[in-house]
Amino acid sequence: MTQLSPPPQLDGWQHIYSGKVRDLYVPADGSDAQLLVVASNRVSAFDHVLEPPIPGKGALLTALSNWWCSRIDVPNHLAGAGSGAPAVPEEVADRAMLTRRLQMHPVECVVRGALTGSGFAEYRRTGAVCGIELPAGLEDGDLLEAPIYTPAYKAPLGEHDENISYERSVELVGEEAAAALRDASLRIFAEARDLAAARGVVLADTKFEFGRDPGSGELVLADEVLTSDSSRYWEASAYFDASLPRAKRLASFDKQIVRDWLAANWDRRGEPPVLPDEIVARTRARYRELHARLTGGA
Ligand code: ATP
Ligand code: MG
Repeated sequence: MTQLSPPPQLDGWQHIYSGKVRDLYVPADGSDAQLLVVASNRVSAFDHVLEPPIPGKGALLTALSNWWCSRIDVPNHLAGAGSGAPAVPEEVADRAMLTRRLQMHPVECVVRGALTGSGFAEYRRTGAVCGIELPAGLEDGDLLEAPIYTPAYKAPLGEHDENISYERSVELVGEEAAAALRDASLRIFAEARDLAAARGVVLADTKFEFGRDPGSGELVLADEVLTSDSSRYWEASAYFDASLPRAKRLASFDKQIVRDWLAANWDRRGEPPVLPDEIVARTRARYRELHARLTGGA
C-alpha cells in the first residue's frame, strides 16, 4: 500500500489515527470529549490511496460537509466555539472540523436513490441489493421508485467494508439503533436530494455515519456529510437528456472520474498508477463546481 506522508503535528492536539483521507486528533491535555477531523488532499479509490493528491480537495470537502450540516435538520457532530477544546490551528483551519467525539456505530448508512456502482453490480448478480428485491430490467444509473437503505458493515482498519442486510445491522447495533439509523438516513437523503435537485444536481447515492453521544445517548450525524467523496452527484441537465448516451448522462461531480480512469488503466493488481495531470485537474474542477453549484459559493 502507498505510504502515507506523516500527518502534520498540531499545537495543542495529539494525532491518534489516519484513515485513507482524514487525520484525527484529540486534545493533547488528555480530554476526550472532542475530535479534530482534518481532511487531507488525498484521494482514494478501490481501497488505495492514490498519487498525487488533489490540490484543494480537503478544504472543499470540509466546506461542503459544513454547509450540508447547516442545511439539514438533524443533530450533527460539529462542536461550536466554547466547547472547551484547544483552538483549531491556523495551518489546517480550512480543512478541519472540530467535533464532539462520539461512539461510532459500525454501520455505514448507505442510501441509494439511483442504482449504480456496487449496488448495480449486486443487482445484476442477484436481482436485489442488501436483501432488497428490485424490479427486473433496471439499467446502470436508473432512478429507483423510492430511495433504498442498503447498509454496509464498517470493517476494522485494513479490511473491506461489506454490504449487509437490514437484519444483520440489527444484530450489530440492536433493533432500536438499527431502525433509528435507517429512518434518519432515509429522511436526510430525501431532504438533501430535493435541495440538490433545486440546484440542478442529482444526488444519486450517499453514505452517512452516525455515532452516539456518550453523555446524552443522542443519535448524532457524524463524519463527512454528503461530500463528493461520500456521495455520487450527477449533472441534472445531462442526466435527464434522453438523447445522450448513458455514459454521458452520468456526468459526475465526484470521484467517479478517478474510478473510471483507474478501471481503464489498471488491472487492480499491485500498486495503482500515478494519476495524470489531466485527471487531477478535472477532478479538482468538478469538486469545485459542485461546491459552487450547491452552496452558491458560500
Ligand atoms: P478509510 O477511509 O481509510 O477506510 P476511515 O473511513 O476510518 O478509513 P477516514 O474517513 O479518513 O477513515 O477518517 C474518519 C474517521 O473518523 C472514520 O473512522 C469515522 O468513523 C470517524 N469519525 C468521524 N466523525 C467522528 C466523531 N464525531 N466521533 C468519532 N469518530 C468520528
Ligand atoms: Mg471514511
